[in-house]
Amino acid sequence: MELSVIVPCYNEAPTLDEFCKGISDTLKKEKITYELIMVDDGSSDDTMQKLENIAKDNKNVKVISFSRNFGKESAMLAGLKHANGKYISIMDADLQHTPEVLISMYNKLTQNPEYDVVASYRESRSEDSTLKRSLTSIFYRINNMLSNVKLLPGASDFRVFKSSVKDAIISLPEQTRFLKGIFSWVGFNTIYVPYTPAKRAYGSSKWSMLKLIKYSLGGIISFSTKPLKGVFLIGIVSFTLCFVNFILMGNLSYRTIILLIGILLLCVGVVALYLTRIYNNALKRPCYIIKRKIGLDEINS
Ligand code: UDP
Ligand code: MG
Repeated sequence: MELSVIVPCYNEAPTLDEFCKGISDTLKKEKITYELIMVDDGSSDDTMQKLENIAKDNKNVKVISFSRNFGKESAMLAGLKHANGKYISIMDADLQHTPEVLISMYNKLTQNPEYDVVASYRESRSEDSTLKRSLTSIFYRINNMLSNVKLLPGASDFRVFKSSVKDAIISLPEQTRFLKGIFSWVGFNTIYVPYTPAKRAYGSSKWSMLKLIKYSLGGIISFSTKPLKGVFLIGIVSFTLCFVNFILMGNLSYRTIILLIGILLLCVGVVALYLTRIYNNALKRPCYIIKRKIGLDEINS
């Protein structure tokens, strides 16, 4: 099999027929053998019924259904673990990622054997709110300042890559996953192509501002210990300043003490983020639980 397309789906029932038909028609026309691995991430709408019907008519469509909503990262991991293609792609189900861009990335990869990954990055964020755009830009700046794993601003999970890259990704045992960072961490030759996502056809983005901030913080924690070292540095600086202040003035003002408590709590917060990560990984709970599979080997997890 040439190409495995992994599609995380969370309450995407209205777009699934159009999405699967679009991809299947395009790949058939291009004579590319393929499988579509649709991962139902615990949807509460008709996503699973829709997928069941689509898989009945098209044997290239395979389905994994989770026992509840585990998040897009887990859905992508499950898809990767079940993919059998020589090349792998990850696409969103909401018609924002088009078959045309998929084909152009696939062609680029197959025509340039020195590349292992063709990744897309969002050229335009004009449909995002100013607040979201500013937060995104701050995240990339902070991440690239703190982390050894650099991210291209706007880089997305919409990529086509060789199965060797997939094997490297699924060999990483970490429980809390940040795929964009993992792609960067595993290395391989990557070429970036700009793309402008189509407008979401139905529904709205599953990412609330809070979810995005949590996800971004998690990404930084995944690949950098610099915030922890920063805590130590802040400790040394504030201790020295207070010590000097105490020697000169003979006491510390209330304002200084309140400021110190604030700094202390912030530092504890940073440590707590890492502690939470260690705790979650120590539990070794699986990233997802599969309730049902259609068209896939039961042996794969
Ligand atoms: N998704 C998922 N689980 C979730 C949230 C989202 O599988 O908990 C899927 C969603 O169905 C879509 C893709 O991830 O196919 C991207 O989600 P969305 O369109 O909400 O993100 P955005 O395009 O705003 O980045
Ligand atoms: Mg989307």
